Amino acid sequence: MAIPDEFFGELGLVRWQLRAPPAPATTLPAVAEPDVSAPDATGDARLARIAALDWAAFAADVDACTACGLCRARHKSVPGVGDRNADWLFVGEAPGAEEDARGEPFVGQAGRLLDNMLAALRLSRERNVYIANVLKCRPPNNRTPEPGEAESCRPYLERQIALLQPKLIVALGKSAASLLLHTDATIASLRGRVHRYGGVPLVVTYHPAYLLRNLPDKAKAWEDLLLAQATVAQSARAEVI
Ligand code: URA
Repeated sequence: MAIPDEFFGELGLVRWQLRAPPAPATTLPAVAEPDVSAPDATGDARLARIAALDWAAFAADVDACTACGLCRARHKSVPGVGDRNADWLFVGEAPGAEEDARGEPFVGQAGRLLDNMLAALRLSRERNVYIANVLKCRPPNNRTPEPGEAESCRPYLERQIALLQPKLIVALGKSAASLLLHTDATIASLRGRVHRYGGVPLVVTYHPAYLLRNLPDKAKAWEDLLLAQATVAQSARAEVI
């Protein structure tokens, strides 16, 4: 199947398009220090509270989280965005600077590529897609999440998956794949087949930020998305039978 314009056009091979100019730089207000004098409940109490959250309470709970040091530098927490009845869940790594400023995942350059990937599948973040990250707060200088940070944040992602009950999870990059599949394997070795998270089919592909630096791998990412699409269609058919 040909790679659609929305996605492959990012390579500049199909046609040149004027892009929207980048948003003007904004000066962020100073970070309000979280109240760590009353530290987040730890252990079982915290896990039980998060496991009982509904969508209405979810974002505020993330915003009050002080379970790891990332809360000290965040401007906004980034709980997730999208259709709460979605079949598709995309899981990225962590907010970057623009996401930290806006409180929404994937709004920078990698996010524009992700939106094009979704459009190529006739999906969007408003329709049949939910987008979340392994971490809900920005790591300094966009460094890779530390294992302790990912573990502290894991209950939030688990709760999102339980609330959403997606038909498919797409793990975007190593951090998401490692956390969800409990593996240190490379993306190259994990892609191309359907894994399981609990009972939910899971497809691994490259992170959009990686694809921006490694354009030829976009063709592989498109193959992964077609595998994901076929998997969603298969589970929809299985529901009808
Ligand atoms: N990269 C991610 O993994 N998540 C975002 O929200 C933005 C960039």
